[in-house]
Amino acid sequence: MNWISNYVRPKINSLFSRREVPENLWTKCPECGTMLFHRELKDNLYVCPNCDHHMGISPRERFASVFDGGIFTEVSVPEPIADPLHFRDQKRYPDRMKAAQKATGEAEAMLVAQGEIGRTPIVAAAQDFSFMGGSMSMYVGNAIIAAAQRAVELKRPLILFAAAGGARMQEGILALMQMPRTTVAVQMLKEAGLPYIVVLTHPTTGGVTASYAMLGDIHIAEPNALICFAGPRVIEQTIREKLPDGFQRAEYLLDHGMLDRVTDRRQMREELIRITRMLLGETPPIAGDLPAPDASEGDGKAAKAPKAGKDAAPEAKDTGKSGKGDK
Ligand SMILES: [Zn+2]
Repeated sequence: MNWISNYVRPKINSLFSRREVPENLWTKCPECGTMLFHRELKDNLYVCPNCDHHMGISPRERFASVFDGGIFTEVSVPEPIADPLHFRDQKRYPDRMKAAQKATGEAEAMLVAQGEIGRTPIVAAAQDFSFMGGSMSMYVGNAIIAAAQRAVELKRPLILFAAAGGARMQEGILALMQMPRTTVAVQMLKEAGLPYIVVLTHPTTGGVTASYAMLGDIHIAEPNALICFAGPRVIEQTIREKLPDGFQRAEYLLDHGMLDRVTDRRQMREELIRITRMLLGETPPIAGDLPAPDASEGDGKAAKAPKAGKDAAPEAKDTGKSGKGDK
C-alpha cells in the first residue's frame, strides 16, 4: 500500500534476483536427496554422482555428449498445422505451447541432427521430456520422418533417444496417427538396410512405446528407466494385484528379453560407436583414437558445424561405405 512495498521492494528484488541466481545453482537428486551443484551435475551428464540416478537431459546436451567434438548440424523439420482441434483444457493449447517453448528454448518436443560419432556419420533424433512431457505430436511425427528421410538420403544409421509420456492429447487422433506414420518411417530405414538404434530413457511410455521406440534393430535403455505402454499404477488398479519389484524398469525388461542392453549415460557414446560400427561392418574403434566429445561446449546451445551440408572432421581411415559428401 505504500511506496516502499509497491515500488522500492520489487525494484530491489529485481535488481538482485537477476544477478544472484542466474540459474538454479543446486539441484536435489530425487532419488537420494543429495544436493548437487548444477555445474558438477551438468559435467556428469545429469547423472547423480552419489547414487547414479539418471535425471532428464535436454536433446542439445545429449547431442553435445554423443557427437564427436559436440558438433552437430540441425536437420529442419516441416511445421505441421498449429492447434488443429482448437483444444482447450484449463489453458488453450497454443498458450501451453508458448509456455513450453519459453521454458525449454526449443520449438517442439523433438530435435533432429546429423553429425559423426567416432567418425561414423549418423543421423540422430532426441525427444525432450521437459517439453510437454515429450508428448508425441504431429511435429514429433514429422521430426522422425525427417530424420529417417535424411538417414536414407545420406545412407547413415539413425539413432533415436526416446522419452515420452505418450501421445499429445491436445492433438487427439492426429497425435495417435503418428504411430503408423513413424512406423512407416522406420520401415523406410529397414528397406534401405540401415541400422535403427533406439535409446530408451526415463520415462518412455504410451503410444511412443507402442510405435517407433520399440521398432529398433537394437534397444538400449538407461539404468532404471521406466519403459511401458500402460504405467504400473494403472495396471495395479486394473488387476488389483501388487506388481513385482522393479516392474517395467530397464533392468527388469532386460531380464525378460525386451531390451538388448542397459547402459550408463556416461558410457553411452562409446556403446553407440561400438554398435554402429558393428552393424555397418566397420572396424571397431581403437582405444585412444576417438575424438572426445567436448562437454565444455557452450551452455546447451547448439554447437553448429562450421560448414552446412558437410559434417566437420576430416575423413579418417574409414574407406568407402559412408554417405559422406553426398551433396
Ligand atoms: Zn542421487
